[in-house]
Amino acid sequence: MKRAVLLSALLLTLPLAGCSMRADTQKTVKSVFAMDTYMELTAYGECGDALDAAEDRIRALEQMLSATDAGSEIWAANHADGSAVPISADTAAILREASAVHDMSGGALSVSVYPVVQAWGFTTGTYRVPEDAEVKSLLQNVDDTRISYTADSLTVPADMQIDLGALAKGYTGDAVISMLRDAGVTSAILNLGGNVQALGSKPDGSAWMVGIAHPFAPEKELGTVRITDCAAVTSGNYERFFTDDSGVKHWHIIDPADGYPADNGLVSVTVIGRSGLHCDALSTALFVEGTERAAAHWRKCADFEMVLVTDGAEIYVTEGIADVFTNQSDMPVKVLKK
Ligand code: AMP
Ligand code: MG
Repeated sequence: MKRAVLLSALLLTLPLAGCSMRADTQKTVKSVFAMDTYMELTAYGECGDALDAAEDRIRALEQMLSATDAGSEIWAANHADGSAVPISADTAAILREASAVHDMSGGALSVSVYPVVQAWGFTTGTYRVPEDAEVKSLLQNVDDTRISYTADSLTVPADMQIDLGALAKGYTGDAVISMLRDAGVTSAILNLGGNVQALGSKPDGSAWMVGIAHPFAPEKELGTVRITDCAAVTSGNYERFFTDDSGVKHWHIIDPADGYPADNGLVSVTVIGRSGLHCDALSTALFVEGTERAAAHWRKCADFEMVLVTDGAEIYVTEGIADVFTNQSDMPVKVLKK
């Protein structure tokens, strides 16, 4: 099953105004459609066939991780009637991160929320508003603590199904960055539809400038962050949504506490950190947690920074990136302190 994403390039890499690349720097760009999104991989300098190898790796990960493609490891686990199925080291690494962020977010990230996501039609594009009783019934089988896994096997209880869609692109970005690094590339930028990952800095040594989509007008930019050797991952309520007959908007990030689109004060969350996997897991979790809990979560951790946009049109930026964030909107910015 493949579906085009409404607007895939939610974070746009921009040329840094006033800086010029060295004219002799070779630039290689590869576009890939995978994981329901348009991806663009850009490497600077000599990179041989590293981007072709990266595309192969992306496709292999997609085949492994897709919840909808029969033949994937996740599909097999979801259809094994509660038996253990073999999994790769890749899937095991994502499951470990999912469990860790599930626990630290009080269950805001729950990969077992998948049947509820399906009920709203987000996996097929055939959207519907499920009855309250249906949501409540499906929620009874949302419980990540009942999933068990080892380094090479996964057991999903027969009455449950999981989906790693909230983390898969982050893991994929990390995998591609590490392949490029191993191939000797020192400067590259990946745009995996809403996930931007940077290897090193721009060839001229300056930071990459990454645009963050404006959640109330996603074709425009809210602002930019300057990053080096980092991931910048956004989860937003404008990325995938439908509007029902009464004009109510329903989006794809579900609060496992009630089975409805998470509506806890945030319309977009951008997480910046070294690990794409961690940033991706967190962007979804913090979106569900909402403004207050997200701020408290950040205060307990030293491994990420974030930009929050509230439904009241305010921007919160954590102090660690306040000086590399440029606001281009008319929304006020508040700096969160530890
Ligand atoms: P992201 O764009 O990274 O925030 O991931 C959103 C995707 O993760 C959705 O399209 C769903 O497939 C899935 N999802 C939605 N809500 C949750 C949740 N609370 N926990 C885990 N996965 C979720
Ligand atoms: Mg995510």
